[in-house]
Amino acid sequence: MAGENRDADARWMRRAFELAARGRFGASPNPMVGAVVLDPEGHLAGEGFHARCGGPHAEIVALREAGDRARGGSLFVTLEPCAHHGRTPPCVDAILSAGVRRVVAAMREPNPHAGGGIDRLRAEGVDAGVGGDADRARTLNRRWLTWVQERRPWVTLKAAVSLDGRIATRTGQSKWITGEAARRRSLELREEHDAIVVGIGTVLADDPLLTRRLGLNPGESWTRIVLDSRLRTPTAAQVVQTSPEQTLIAHTQEAAPGERRRLKDAGVQLLEIAAGADGRVELHQLLEHLARREVAALLVEGGSAVHGSFADAGLVDEAVFFIAPLLIGGSGPSAVAGRGVADLELATRLRFEGIERHGADLELRAVRPEEEDVHGSG
Ligand code: NDP
Ligand code: ZN
Repeated sequence: MAGENRDADARWMRRAFELAARGRFGASPNPMVGAVVLDPEGHLAGEGFHARCGGPHAEIVALREAGDRARGGSLFVTLEPCAHHGRTPPCVDAILSAGVRRVVAAMREPNPHAGGGIDRLRAEGVDAGVGGDADRARTLNRRWLTWVQERRPWVTLKAAVSLDGRIATRTGQSKWITGEAARRRSLELREEHDAIVVGIGTVLADDPLLTRRLGLNPGESWTRIVLDSRLRTPTAAQVVQTSPEQTLIAHTQEAAPGERRRLKDAGVQLLEIAAGADGRVELHQLLEHLARREVAALLVEGGSAVHGSFADAGLVDEAVFFIAPLLIGGSGPSAVAGRGVADLELATRLRFEGIERHGADLELRAVRPEEEDVHGSG
């Protein structure tokens, strides 16, 4: 990457990151990307971000806004421009025909079939390279990177818990532990994910709707998944009665033919997954299947047993807990049951990343640390 003014470069890349983050509700299963186009004098000529999967890429939006002013100018983008024909034509072609002279990307495209953009630009004489905050670029798109690199969705556990760590009373009541503001924020999480999963226990106890309803995500694809080995989901359940085509019930070979027919007739999707050692839906296979269906980010909303299974399987990337100043006591379920660990060393260790207040409640967010952090901590 040619010298130029490094402070200005860093500033424009920061702006590109701010823009990228605006795609957090709609970009998935595509990455969030932001782009800034400068004219030859280094003045801002265009800005863009990838708002919706299937919609124009960030570079295209910024180049359109810049128009002729892009000729001889530069482009700052948070991810290497694509060189392949995906849902939209390659950005590299648009960059070349706009006559941009310099391109700085914060990170390489990890998807082999979409990569090679920088090399192609260089081959055409553009001063193109990787520069800027690579860590920030990886963090921004960690959900998408997990999907691309591990072929499974990023898994976010969400729970509303009392101060003593319970998600329901001893009789199974959980409505409502947290107040309205926290509940609204938790609905916002749905808009940031591609699918939601709950256990049959939660369906039977709460009969939740599991819809996206804030209208923040411009995309239409949304899958409500129920883990229900033997197909006990009642036909009268809300997930069956409302938009059944949006509901996917994952069961095992144990499900009786009559139950399969009953739920199929009701219009829901059924997915048979081989049972794991515990006789229930095996999560690795479930996630593999969801990844193929373009679920890049999965929200797990309970209950206790399902959270426990994800933790036991080492499949928790992020945990968002809403904590209410309540003491429930008794034998109500804890937020994470499952087998659990006997040895503290084996506990899922996350890193606190955020804390916010929503009315009377707190939101605590923790994520799986990057590899280096694990080795670096004492
Ligand atoms: P879950 O919702 O966790 O469902 C557990 C059931 O799901 C299992 O018994 C099993 O039934 C089925 N299942 C299938 N595959 C799996 C798997 N791989 N891992 C785990 N379960 C699997 O039920 P719980 O009873 O633990 O929790 C329900 C309680 O939690 C309710 O009281 C509800 O109100 C509360 N809740 C609270 C929330 C909160 O945030 N405060 C959120 C959600 C629920 P089978 O073997 O028949 O398939
Ligand atoms: Zn592109």
